[in-house]
Amino acid sequence: MQRIGWIGLGNMGIPMAKNLLKAGFELTVYNRTAAKAASLTDMGARLADSPSALWKNADTVIIMVSDDKAALQVLEGPHGLLHGAGAGKTVINMSTVSPATGRHMAGDLAAKGAEYLDAPVSGSVKPAELAQLIVLAGGKREVFEAAKPIFEKLGKISFYMGGQGAGNSAKLAINMLVAFNMQGLAETIHFARENGIAPAEMMAIINESAVGNGFSKLKTPNLVNDEHPAAFALQHMAKDLRLAKEEGMNGPAGLAVEESYRKAAAAGLGELDLSAILKFLEQKGN
Ligand code: NAP
Repeated sequence: MQRIGWIGLGNMGIPMAKNLLKAGFELTVYNRTAAKAASLTDMGARLADSPSALWKNADTVIIMVSDDKAALQVLEGPHGLLHGAGAGKTVINMSTVSPATGRHMAGDLAAKGAEYLDAPVSGSVKPAELAQLIVLAGGKREVFEAAKPIFEKLGKISFYMGGQGAGNSAKLAINMLVAFNMQGLAETIHFARENGIAPAEMMAIINESAVGNGFSKLKTPNLVNDEHPAAFALQHMAKDLRLAKEEGMNGPAGLAVEESYRKAAAAGLGELDLSAILKFLEQKGN
């Protein structure tokens, strides 16, 4: 069994790290807000007080933090992973970051003789709990092969996409489609309600129809009740669309949806689930 270090205990990190513990991996965790590690240490995880301290008990460290800035912070910041990284050590970044940031992190680690794999995931909190995520990996094939026993405990399938940054590109592409789905569902519900059709009835129609899918069913309670507790925070989708735009997303739907999520985040809806794009539509003028 590989000894694993884990950084980032947010909505995704907690259930994913728990699955590695349940699978019998020796796990040491670090989170900026240490209190969030309680449910993991209760299950037997060790707690480290900095990213670099993870190397004492781990050869592989997995990062699952918010964004590019956070990932760079845990790598390059004071007491970051670069301190103590060396030959035989591997960093797997499962956060959604830009391909350029992934390549930059890979370069940092290569200079120390350590390996780096980008391995963002598709699937939200429920698939994370059920170990049903889809892993999209980029980097050296042999590093991917070595990481597969870990991915098998986190997800239902892992795809090797190519060199460093390829996993990030695939992740940005699938999230474009998630954003289109969410925007489409929210606009449909908004239009239906404005025309006298109740959201519950409209979602029942959608879910029975050819355009109903796993995603529409997953988001039905949020849209029917207009309640949006974060599984995938709207601000993270705004970030992913910004990254996709920076990587060349320039179709009419992509540009419109990027603007929509960016403005919704700026309007204070960022910490709610991405389904809160419905609330943004309800605000006059959107
Ligand atoms: P989250 O709930 O917002 O958690 C973010 C984590 O990042 C927390 O552990 C937070 O620490 C840490 N963090 C943020 N800034 C940091 C910094 N400067 N230094 C150190 N740690 C920092 O996010 P999440 O939903 O778990 O998502 C994590 C990543 O997975 C994101 O890249 C997201 O786009 C991606 N993703 C999410 C989903 C989903 O459905 N939620 C699905 C697929 C992919 P604190 O606890 O101290 O704040």
